[in-house]
Amino acid sequence: MPPFEVPEGDPFGPHNLPYGVFSRAGSQERTVGVRLGDHVLDAGAAALALGSPYAALLARPTLNPLLAAGRTAWSDVRRALTAWVTVPAHQETVAPFLHPLDSVTLHLPFEVADYVDFYASENHARNVGQIFRPDAADSLTPNWKHLPIGYHGRSGTVVVSGTDVVRPAGQRKGPADPEPVFGPSVRLDIEAEVGFVVGVPSRTGRPVSLESFREHVFGLCLLNDWSARDVQAWEYVPLGPFLGKSFATSVSAWITPLDALEDARVAPPRRTHPLLPYLDDAADGPGGYDLRISVAINGHTVSEPPFSTMYWTAAQQLAHMTVNGASLRTGDLYGSGTVSGPEPAQRGSLLELTWNGREPLELPDGKRTFLEDGDVVTLSAWAPGPDGTRVGLGEVTGRIVTA
Ligand code: MN
Repeated sequence: MPPFEVPEGDPFGPHNLPYGVFSRAGSQERTVGVRLGDHVLDAGAAALALGSPYAALLARPTLNPLLAAGRTAWSDVRRALTAWVTVPAHQETVAPFLHPLDSVTLHLPFEVADYVDFYASENHARNVGQIFRPDAADSLTPNWKHLPIGYHGRSGTVVVSGTDVVRPAGQRKGPADPEPVFGPSVRLDIEAEVGFVVGVPSRTGRPVSLESFREHVFGLCLLNDWSARDVQAWEYVPLGPFLGKSFATSVSAWITPLDALEDARVAPPRRTHPLLPYLDDAADGPGGYDLRISVAINGHTVSEPPFSTMYWTAAQQLAHMTVNGASLRTGDLYGSGTVSGPEPAQRGSLLELTWNGREPLELPDGKRTFLEDGDVVTLSAWAPGPDGTRVGLGEVTGRIVTA
């Protein structure tokens, strides 16, 4: 099939066009690519061949210049790309710049500035509360319904899908251990999340309002917040996650622009508590996204978390992240928090799926509580697109290797 003829129902058709960075076999040169079906368009080379002014944003080794260019440029570039891959006169010119996906190497698509991770699923927060604080009167902490809880992660260890994850080592102290012990984590877990990518920076002292979300955030991607539960449990009081999380965070090689997800916007769950004005999104339009996520271990689906159930929206998270006057930088990345739906088969972590290891999963290759060396975890997702189509999100996969 010619590369422009994407099969009917392909979630990476011309209605999607996510952005990545790739290099060709035998070359060290990285450049921006746009995915079309099972091909990648060398967007910079196509822009140069067409004499497009967007070559300055696309013939680059990272997405950062495009991210910084802002919403008007994002929409203009997307409109141009759509024409290049759908209008026959342009197709002829850009055809030489389409390469089969399996012939290229995909790289981390942008330089990650700061990395923040949230905790926005009420189902996840309640499950974790029940597991770790079984005697508490409320499984949610008192602040949970008033602000999106988050922590600062480590941007330097954000890796692209396909990168092996070395089992982290650290301190742990189980209830029966008289003293802490050191060694490879024995409770290595996943967190199925969605990452939001900031394009346009903001100035110190100028909080970003809910309404300005789309002026600053370029797009989203799947994200796996790998977590060493044993390290986390011993270290996290009172300052929160640290080494149990900072060893690796995997993101997809493809960033889906928000413009491709207009048909996936949905209202978030009903707000059960009044919100302070900077977080009150009652009048802000549908701030949620209907993303249907799948989690597979060694090719076997173990969970299907629905992103539409997230209590806090990405716009609220951005508003909260900047309400103290903190500025944004191009390439800032923030994770949604583990996505867990109300049903057991919709939980986005092994901590919840196995109820802290007490109820092992039965996989074709044996029982699992937490991850074993050699396990391959893959997150995938799709969202409703225009005219009944599906918009695929690029998968994020990683294999656990021995410490
Ligand atoms: Mn997380």
